[in-house]
Amino acid sequence: MNADSIKQLAAELGADLVGIAPKNRWESLHAAQNPLTLMPDCQSVIVVGRKILRGTFRGIEEGTNFGSTYHAYGCGWHHGLFLLRTVHNLACEIEKNGFEAMPVLNLDPRAAVIPDYQELARLAGLGAPGRGGFFLSPRYGHRQRFGLVLTPLELPGDPVTELDFCRDCGACLKACPLHALKDTGGALFERNQALCANCKNGAVDAGGDRYAASCGRACLVALEQKVENRFRHRFRKRSVWERDLENRVTVRPLEPKEN
Ligand code: SF4
Ligand code: SF4
Repeated sequence: MNADSIKQLAAELGADLVGIAPKNRWESLHAAQNPLTLMPDCQSVIVVGRKILRGTFRGIEEGTNFGSTYHAYGCGWHHGLFLLRTVHNLACEIEKNGFEAMPVLNLDPRAAVIPDYQELARLAGLGAPGRGGFFLSPRYGHRQRFGLVLTPLELPGDPVTELDFCRDCGACLKACPLHALKDTGGALFERNQALCANCKNGAVDAGGDRYAASCGRACLVALEQKVENRFRHRFRKRSVWERDLENRVTVRPLEPKEN
């Protein structure tokens, strides 16, 4: 069993992205985020990504359906069913070959050890965090979620990639109706989490999941001609709805570059 066979297997099991981060890249992470706290003899972290279908954002984009599109297929079932199954089945296959394999998904926010998924995905060569706080991959932009398989199997790492999607962009910041994002010159925009927790613009999990919120959908629109996974038709079709904290709706016409 080697890196290539593991990646092929992961793809057959539904993974859209797979990267490997060897121990020397993450062993100095804080104990509360470190794979070694979970598995003392871990040598490799296999980071498995599944894309979030663009179509799952449609109901929120049009303001017509939140629950049975994004909340189900883009969020809850995506994480707790589709991705979970891929990660679990990959771990099963690795154990069949005689190597322990620990599947890890961040399903319990109260867990004592929560690996830094974004950092491990970056160290596995799958992309980099964008200024809006979303992890961005060259293939899908922000449209993916990650799970991990920890194993003592020694595997070569994938090259870490540099991305400059955010240069001269700021679309997520401009799109936030609550002005929760601020450019203070740092690598990431500063974010007012209290505002996100009360956001009624498509945020889920008290602002913990912002992929389909106004900021996330603006990122999708900004990157749709830059990512590898492109579509024949533009995502944004109509005027953009926004809600303030009091639930008042305003509608802003499309800017020419958006359609
Ligand atoms: S989740 Fe809502 S409040 Fe937070 S940055 Fe995105 S659009 Fe703004
Ligand atoms: S919208 Fe632009 S600035 Fe914001 S995270 Fe996406 S690419 Fe970066």
